[in-house]
Amino acid sequence: MAPVPQTMKAIQMTQTGGPEVLQLKDVPVPSPSAGQVLVKNDFTGVNFIDTYFRTGLYPAALPLTLGREAAGTVVAFSPPDGGSSSVVPVPVGTRVVYMDQGTYAQYSAVDASRVVRVPDGLTAEQAAAVYLQGLTAWTLVREAADVRPGQWALVHAAAGGVGLLLVQMLGIVGANVIGTASTREKCELARENGAGWTIVGSAEDVVARVKDITGGHGVDAIFDGVGKATFDADLEMIAPKGHLVSFGNASGVVPPVNILRLGAKNVKLMRPVLNGYIAERQDLEKYTGELFELVASGKLNIAVHDVYPLSQAARAHVDIESRKTTGKLLLSCE
Ligand code: NDP
Repeated sequence: MAPVPQTMKAIQMTQTGGPEVLQLKDVPVPSPSAGQVLVKNDFTGVNFIDTYFRTGLYPAALPLTLGREAAGTVVAFSPPDGGSSSVVPVPVGTRVVYMDQGTYAQYSAVDASRVVRVPDGLTAEQAAAVYLQGLTAWTLVREAADVRPGQWALVHAAAGGVGLLLVQMLGIVGANVIGTASTREKCELARENGAGWTIVGSAEDVVARVKDITGGHGVDAIFDGVGKATFDADLEMIAPKGHLVSFGNASGVVPPVNILRLGAKNVKLMRPVLNGYIAERQDLEKYTGELFELVASGKLNIAVHDVYPLSQAARAHVDIESRKTTGKLLLSCE
């Protein structure tokens, strides 16, 4: 294994703003503190949440290295002080995937308790492509809405990163899946991945189509990562006692809601965050194990849109924000 250098490339921002604030910098390789591993990143995922931190929608201290997930190889392990038994040693050479802030970088120091071994048979590219978005989709299906066989489920942005995984997972649990997307091509991709019905949101009356498709029942669960633009329609097309899972803000943050609006159909409204489902190590392992099993069994297709070099992080942000991407966009950290 090559020696660890003193400096590395990383994408940093010193101010919030458009994609142009993302700069490729030479910065020191972090030193793992007690209980941490140093990971040499192979791939880091581009997630829509990265744009929220870049614009300042989600506040963070500056300068900031963007990125929330990566896959790579452990190159150093710093044992915990006092031999804490809660931290399991991670040997140098272990292939791992993890979520942490600051992964648009060649190396990251990460708490050993938050890394997960990448199973044999899964490449680092696949692991980085499926991890954050896959865990999001799977915990939303399993915990937030607990969708049952035969129920109607609707996924907005169904050809996106989380969306394409949600469509597949909802099919796996036996739901009847309707996907919305902005173009016919995206709808076609959602259908190829298991959506039984699709609606071109920019060209069709989504509420009318849903009522038509479901025979007037409405959808029992809605998975909405679009936010502001789709929330009102969600309340119109949700079925009585339905789960409205609003989990993102791609079009803007949903404005404050008059809670009385939920009473018309006894709607269960949620705004869940992935970290809340996997904060405990046992939950992280459970859901990651189930996610990797879905991949290993061939039930879950990992759709990588493209892989850009780390230096092209700004281009990646332009593309994801202008709705050009489908599935997963990755940055190579070489
Ligand atoms: P996507 O790959 O899904 O990209 C976002 C998609 O949103 C676009 O492709 C586009 O699809 C749609 N969209 C609708 N309106 C807009 C708009 N005004 N600008 C840009 N895109 C728009 O991103 P991700 O898979 O990374 O994330 C999807 C959502 O899930 C995001 O809102 C993200 O914040 C959220 N998320 C939430 C998590 C949580 O813990 N709560 C965890 C992970 C993700 P189309 O063109 O088809 O409309």
